[in-house]
Amino acid sequence: MSDKIIKKKNFQNFLKSLKKTYEIFVPMKEKGFFRFSPLVNKNEVDLNFTNTRFSPKSLLFPQSERIFEYTLDETGEDAHILRESQKDFPPTVVVGIRPCDAKALRLVDVNFNNPQFKDPWWVRRLESMTLIGIGCNEPCGTCFCTSVGCGPFNEEGLDVLLVDLEGNYLVRAITKKGAQLFEQAGVAEDAKSNVKKKADEVKGKAEKQIASHVPTDKLKKKNVIDLFDASFWDDVASACLNCGTCTFLCPTCWCFDIQDEVNKKEGDRIRNWDSCMFPLFTLHASGHNPRSEKVQRVRQRFMHKLKYYLDKYNNGVACVGCGRCVRYCPVNIDIREVFNLMNEQ
Ligand code: SF4
Ligand code: SF4
Repeated sequence: MSDKIIKKKNFQNFLKSLKKTYEIFVPMKEKGFFRFSPLVNKNEVDLNFTNTRFSPKSLLFPQSERIFEYTLDETGEDAHILRESQKDFPPTVVVGIRPCDAKALRLVDVNFNNPQFKDPWWVRRLESMTLIGIGCNEPCGTCFCTSVGCGPFNEEGLDVLLVDLEGNYLVRAITKKGAQLFEQAGVAEDAKSNVKKKADEVKGKAEKQIASHVPTDKLKKKNVIDLFDASFWDDVASACLNCGTCTFLCPTCWCFDIQDEVNKKEGDRIRNWDSCMFPLFTLHASGHNPRSEKVQRVRQRFMHKLKYYLDKYNNGVACVGCGRCVRYCPVNIDIREVFNLMNEQ
């Protein structure tokens, strides 16, 4: 599909018409922050936002999710037998996802969807989703996406990229799934060359506006043991509270824990987000904890993102430069400084 153009007012009506077939998630303002929420008819979709505080990863990988059920009631034949919890995977459209967050889903996909192991819930949800992204005309001061193989108009992971051109959106279909969504509805017209030129100008301006840059060029060649043993980790970790904010907000963090909860004789097996920043995360049943010290946990977070992932998957670093951890860390620990330290070590 060639680039199209759609009036913003028509776009709102288009989304409402999609509700007959799809579940629609859009960024909605709630208590001062945007987060992805189901589209409700009375709401206008406001795509004039910087980014959501929580990343959209929770739409595929919920913060807490029942995965199996069982009964301890031995009067029946199925006592102690795990049954997979019933789940729906309705066709879903996510509107307004930022390019960094779409790329992040691709980075996480190598963990949840690879030849050795497939997480069936992640895979089914991603398959059932169409991602309509919106380029960032005004990146914020903590964004550094252009340093990590991404950018404010990056198309990787998206089905459609919208470019905000004041009263209109340029609609660029990236995948067949994305093109079909607009073609079936017939709501967009072909974009003329002056519109495409304007979209290119907006993109160029936004890329230039990103003032934060981090070096990554030497990370791949670094010896992992040299980085692991570097003397700067104590300084990096000293202020950390191990609150886990950075990992919960990060679109590329995927750690989880599995807990059983039993109420009388009925049991649920639940998967919950966890964090490498929490002391209990690596506590063994024996009582031994290989990361009992704060500095070990902080080092793990950065080494995993900027070295282990890079070496294991050859897919770049596990950071898309969204800047959430920089903005929300209560003690101002800044991953951009850690990029510098590790790259220059
Ligand atoms: S948000 Fe900051 S203080 Fe909290 S765990 Fe992360 S680095 Fe530590
Ligand atoms: S900037 Fe921070 S929150 Fe964003 S992807 Fe990188 S590590 Fe995660």
